Amino acid sequence: MQVDHSYSRLPSVFFQPWQASPVANPSWLAFNQQLATELDLPAQQGETEQGLLQFSGNTVPAWAKPLVQAYAGHQFGQYNPQLGDGRALLLAEVIAHNGKRYDIQLKGAGPTPYSRGGDGRSAIGPVIREYLVSEAMQVLGVPTTRALAAVTTGQPVFRDDELPGAILTRVASSHIRIGTVQYIAALGNTDFLRTLADYLIERHYPDCSSAATPYLALLEQVISKQTTLIAHWMRLGFIHGVMNTDNTSICGETIDYGPCAFLDQYQADKVFSSIDRRGRYAYSNQPPIALWNLARLAECLLPLIADDEKQAVEQATAALQQFQPQYEAQWLEQMAAKLGISQAVPADKTLIDDYLQLLQQQAVDFTLGFRYLSGELQTGMDNKASALFASPAAFASWRERWLARLTEQALSHNEIAGQMDSVNPLLIPRNHLIAKAIRQAEDDGDLTLFHRLHQAWKKPFASAADADLIAPPKPEEVVQRTFCGT
Ligand code: AMP
Ligand code: MG
Repeated sequence: MQVDHSYSRLPSVFFQPWQASPVANPSWLAFNQQLATELDLPAQQGETEQGLLQFSGNTVPAWAKPLVQAYAGHQFGQYNPQLGDGRALLLAEVIAHNGKRYDIQLKGAGPTPYSRGGDGRSAIGPVIREYLVSEAMQVLGVPTTRALAAVTTGQPVFRDDELPGAILTRVASSHIRIGTVQYIAALGNTDFLRTLADYLIERHYPDCSSAATPYLALLEQVISKQTTLIAHWMRLGFIHGVMNTDNTSICGETIDYGPCAFLDQYQADKVFSSIDRRGRYAYSNQPPIALWNLARLAECLLPLIADDEKQAVEQATAALQQFQPQYEAQWLEQMAAKLGISQAVPADKTLIDDYLQLLQQQAVDFTLGFRYLSGELQTGMDNKASALFASPAAFASWRERWLARLTEQALSHNEIAGQMDSVNPLLIPRNHLIAKAIRQAEDDGDLTLFHRLHQAWKKPFASAADADLIAPPKPEEVVQRTFCGT
């Protein structure tokens, strides 16, 4: 196991050395052996007594040098100068099998100097949700933090109710956020800011070091990674729910899973999060919000981009203006692929938009609305797609246009259907299933459904799965509101 602590070599204003607070009676929820192998963690880190003590914060592993990271951030548009790891603890960086560096972090391991009155703990519900959703996102091809381990603490946490406490061990290419850059920039010390930018370049964007203007190149590459990330979210109907700048990773991974949820019925302005009262982080607002967050990053980097402020603003603005065209191109390509179109052209946007509008008007399930389309191309398949529409006539006329478009491709219907089934999942982490798994774990300590979902969501594109995992929620099962649980 190759370990390093590069963050601890940064100036001391970036972090504080810290320790987890021990818990009463830790017990395993899950350990991700597959990920442990990828990270080259020794087997005894797994479901052993020693591993349990380490992943509950009760003992400090010999390879760890724990610290908490400082950051700031815009929360729902309001700047908060002092956030930081209020309930997270960076144990170490490991150099994985593939040569890449990953942070290993405990989440819920007790109060820290950045807890701001919070308890530094996590309830079992958010731990289960993050474990399931982050691992599913990985399989669905979305950049994301991963879940390595989850344990219960044997201690209650007090939210609206008394709930079992739990700790998640998560793995990220790094936990550095736009908010981290905001925090350092706000110190007003350009040397610190340059040190952070150089660290980011070395760790995440090494090509930038040979660019003519490395810090502008850094901004451009962060923009590009964020663009890709949001296009992934949109193609899957994923709503992050708390796209604050402190929850926006510099390396473009989905991070800080809180009240996140996937669309069932398609609704462009859908909001699940109970704290997002004005719909700032609604599904369709995610691209403009990502750009807004990137503009906050750009402001921080101005002193590094050019000595002349006007010139720096011009260059940063030009970089930000790349977001929209890049995003639109990626969205078009990915959404067209969902319809079986392998070489998207601008005119395909209308076909996609019209389909989304149909889904919305007829309250059709987003995931199945795309997945079942491939059945329209295969003889002998039942008309599962048209059966999703309450008034199939509107679908039928859209279908004619779609089939006409597909004839422009030199591919058989079977080949197109195969391609569609490789990008349109049959299974997504449905909110009502996650809610049910959490309830069973909270009420009875029953982890059967949690483990079943974790296994099933490893194969989201397979053509067969249990009917109860495919089906959209029944009316009485629909989850309308999700909670951070912090
Ligand atoms: P979030 O937007 O949920 O990712 O968190 C915003 C800030 O609140 C971060 O600084 C977290 O570390 C902090 N925070 C969230 N929950 C807790 C908690 N239970 N105890 C202490 N700090 C917390
Ligand atoms: Mg956060």
